[in-house]
Amino acid sequence: MEDITLTCTDCDEEFIFTGGEREFYEEKGYDEPKRCKSCRAKRKADKGNRGFKQY
Ligand SMILES: [Zn+2]
Repeated sequence: MEDITLTCTDCDEEFIFTGGEREFYEEKGYDEPKRCKSCRAKRKADKGNRGFKQY
């Protein structure tokens, strides 16, 4: 698969969703990521700290 560029819904930065990642996501039946890696990591950390669900 080709790499594609997605826009992060949190910081509006573009990020690369690589062909390898796309294959992995498709295999697992996941949707495309909506956030870049740093925002995903940040949210993961936030969630752990605050202890409530954001969505
Ligand atoms: Zn981001």
